[in-house]
Amino acid sequence: MKITIIGTGYVGLVTGACLAEIGNDVFCLDVDPRKIDILNNGGVPIHEPGLREIIARTRAHGRITFSTDVKASVEHGEIQFIAVGTPPDEDGSADLQYVLEAARNIGRYMNGFKVIVDKSTVPVGTAERVRSVVMAELEARGAGGSDAHSFSVVSNPEFLKEGAAVEDFMRPDRIVIGIDDDERGRLAREKMKRLYAPFNRNHERTLYMDVRSAEFTKYAANAMLATRISFMNEMSNLADRVGADIEAVRRGIGSDPRIGYHFLYAGVGYGGSCFPKDVQALVRTAGENGHRLRILEAVEDVNHEQKQVLVQKIENVLGRDLTGRTFAVWGLSFKPNTDDMREAPSRRVIAALLARGARVRAYDPVALDEARRVFALDLAHEPDALARLSLVSSQEEALPDADALVILTEWKEFKSPDFMHMTSVLKNSVIFDGRNLYEPEAMAELGIDYYAIGRPHVQ
Ligand code: NAD
Repeated sequence: MKITIIGTGYVGLVTGACLAEIGNDVFCLDVDPRKIDILNNGGVPIHEPGLREIIARTRAHGRITFSTDVKASVEHGEIQFIAVGTPPDEDGSADLQYVLEAARNIGRYMNGFKVIVDKSTVPVGTAERVRSVVMAELEARGAGGSDAHSFSVVSNPEFLKEGAAVEDFMRPDRIVIGIDDDERGRLAREKMKRLYAPFNRNHERTLYMDVRSAEFTKYAANAMLATRISFMNEMSNLADRVGADIEAVRRGIGSDPRIGYHFLYAGVGYGGSCFPKDVQALVRTAGENGHRLRILEAVEDVNHEQKQVLVQKIENVLGRDLTGRTFAVWGLSFKPNTDDMREAPSRRVIAALLARGARVRAYDPVALDEARRVFALDLAHEPDALARLSLVSSQEEALPDADALVILTEWKEFKSPDFMHMTSVLKNSVIFDGRNLYEPEAMAELGIDYYAIGRPHVQ
């Protein structure tokens, strides 16, 4: 099928590449010429396991095109996926300017029946706004009401996880499709069914529903996951105070099938481009509808505070003034297997250490370039703090003479380091672990002063 993807970021690029991989003819549009140049030169602007190989293969077979040509993109696809960003506005609501701009472009150039798919995470009611914007453009062209320019707006939220995006897209748990129950909706449904048929071979994974429910489903899913994380973080803070081990508690409750093991890890708070903004946007949607989502307000508050918990532990051990101290930091991305640093806890923790006068030597397996860019912006007005941050190219390089190691992302390669070497090069054998990677007893045996989240400090 002929598919257009509008927005070539984490979601758009993965969607486009995977749909090309199964045989579709895909046109990827982006307004950012830098991204399109990288892709047209054989590069990939983001880190996502398996993506580079798929893009190389589908490009070689001529099944994927990257361009900034808006008109050509609209003319290409019978299905137009809108996969642009929906960042938080100043008041926390989702900023729809990019979605509506994409809709405007579709209305301006459409040349036949189009299925317009909202893939971006958008608040309930957005499909109707997209429809109005497309209609207004068609009317401005004198093409309103013409059958040759008809369309249907579909909601098809994306549930992929960064770091496992290709795998998630290729093997989805479910595909949610919100569709209107009218003649054009039925036509759109046929096309969506054909498009996703290869993913439904063994059993039907598609859940058809009305458009508003589909839009809501995405927010409810992220809100639930964020709630589990904040819940466990609250429990871990209590575990610290009462001398319980949150890891034992996690196993104890996760074994109940009604609870399950997923998303029960205590840590330094959730980050990324989705949970923080989607929880905020849902709280905002509730407010606009005269309702309060008190649980989600608390989820946000807890998460905000959780990003300071490790700094608090560092202060308790080393004092508030960290001038002259050096910290080795392992992990900068908001989670493993991605270079994404949007709302990453590392940004708050490192900024706090620098603000207290410390030096930071930080390493991440893939996010170093992104970290360089992000910290230059975050610390643009604090050149002195920025000068005390250095990004190094291996985990070992971060360690020599550091007063402590601070772990902020649970990358696999941090799970079983050479502790003997580590203790021989650190100035003090101290670890502040924001991801609970090691066992407190084992650390004590190695002579490491080990501080984790919600776990006992064993002497
Ligand atoms: P992103 O910022 O990585 O990519 C968005 C891209 O859209 C950018 O490259 C930008 O240049 C481009 N763009 C903006 N306006 C455009 C326009 N008018 N025409 C063409 N391109 C345009 O964002 P992302 O992380 O891929 O997220 C996209 C959407 O998907 C968001 O709504 C997000 O909430 C949702 N989502 C993201 C994830 C995730 O893990 N990142 C998962 C599920 C859903």
